[in-house]
Amino acid sequence: MKRQRNVKILATLGPASDSVEMIGNLHKAGADVFRLNMSHGSHEEIRAKHAMIRAVEKELGSTIGILADLQGPKLRVGVFANESEELVEGAAFRLDLDEAPGDLQRVCLPHPEIFSALKEGASLLVNDGKIRLRVTACGDDYADCEVITGGTISNRKGVNVPDVVLPLAALSEKDLADLEFVCELGVDWLALSFVQRPEDVDQARALAKGRAAILSKIEKPSAVERFDDILAVSDGIMVARGDLGVELPVSAVPPIQKRLVRRSRAVGKPVIVATQMLESMIESPMPTRAEVSDVATAIYEGADAVMLSAESAAGGYPIEAVTTMNNVAVEVEQDPTYTQIIEASRTASRSGIADAMVAAAREIAETTDVKAICCFTHSGTTALLTARERPRVPIIALTPLVGTARRLALSWGVTCSLTDELDRFKMAVVSAAKVAREEGFATSDDFVVVTAGVPFNVPGSTNILRVAPCDERLIFASDPE
Ligand code: ATP
Ligand code: MG
Ligand code: MG
Repeated sequence: MKRQRNVKILATLGPASDSVEMIGNLHKAGADVFRLNMSHGSHEEIRAKHAMIRAVEKELGSTIGILADLQGPKLRVGVFANESEELVEGAAFRLDLDEAPGDLQRVCLPHPEIFSALKEGASLLVNDGKIRLRVTACGDDYADCEVITGGTISNRKGVNVPDVVLPLAALSEKDLADLEFVCELGVDWLALSFVQRPEDVDQARALAKGRAAILSKIEKPSAVERFDDILAVSDGIMVARGDLGVELPVSAVPPIQKRLVRRSRAVGKPVIVATQMLESMIESPMPTRAEVSDVATAIYEGADAVMLSAESAAGGYPIEAVTTMNNVAVEVEQDPTYTQIIEASRTASRSGIADAMVAAAREIAETTDVKAICCFTHSGTTALLTARERPRVPIIALTPLVGTARRLALSWGVTCSLTDELDRFKMAVVSAAKVAREEGFATSDDFVVVTAGVPFNVPGSTNILRVAPCDERLIFASDPE
């Protein structure tokens, strides 16, 4: 679907967005990629949502990315008999191993290994730190706590224990089962929660066997420390600010966000800014000014995508939240300061033929009136290299592989179009011009830049660049070959 913006929107699905009609409307309003959070919902529910997304994609003739977010080594409480409870300051609250639904006095924390690691006085932070508990007494199968900061606790909310090193593997039994399930189902991106080391990414990649691209969620101090090594082995990055702001002081999050976005941009890997972007829209049709400003900041930084969590999964105004993000993006990207910031924060191209080709395409787009950069891509590498340049015109990625197109749905400025396998550059130019016209990027009077690698099929082998007229007769007249 053609958008009036470069930044992409990722929307989490949940009970508030659980129908083909709703998902279709979210996509029309601006959601380019949908996130399935494996922490919430059974395999059958995930399968149903996946089928709904693919049904919308088919119905609208669009390309939609699906990201499955693995829970990772995150502690979560169990469920409550009444779905949620209000914890008040000073009250006593127990965490235990009893699987019976929770109430105002207790809830299950189904992680036996945690209780032996907990100590009296340790802080437990619930729901991205909104609720704070302090351990007053603990044993092998329980922890009695005092509520230090109260709030609503509900089903499967996350729990952080910042002062305690927890003995947890990078991928739990549940993650291994979830990974295999979603890879078989067919998702485009696999997000790994609480990545700590590059080896965690390697392990998931070995299990995914090429069935999905791997995105690392950066939400641990250790991941921030080893960020470059993790980035090197990942296909994409999420700045997961919820847990990051619990594991580190909240004031540390903005500089980390800036650094992670810049480094990911520098290597041409998609980077998502996530969590609480429009948090107040869970309950209100209007965002706060501060939230709008936060979304705008991520866009000015040149992030590939901005994300909605509970706003679209469990809030009262999912469509309004996506529409707000879309409108902010359109407005910001029309601001001349946006172009200045994006261009000032671009890092020099690396050496290599493909890098030089995409830089040249971007320069042509800066100095002439071409309407788009069209690139032929199999693996998606050329489109990623082009997106890395953050050019002033849209990038049209033409690919015969639907998986590549869906993965690229997360990338800045890229619109995908499925094409037939091509073996001659001339036909590539013809089909690029046709897509540019049909998708409304250009008219017959316009020109586009077309890049491709010949022979076709070799990743990142871009070696041809042509400034081509969009008028088919002119293409043939200027190049009768
Ligand atoms: P993470 O740490 O992975 O972000 P989270 O619990 O913060 O996990 P989000 O997907 O960021 O989850 O936020 C969505 C919120 O919506 C959840 O906290 C949960 O309360 C609610 N929700 C309920 N059902 C679902 C569902 N099926 N999918 C996603 N979210 C759900
Ligand atoms: Mg998280
Ligand atoms: Mg979250």
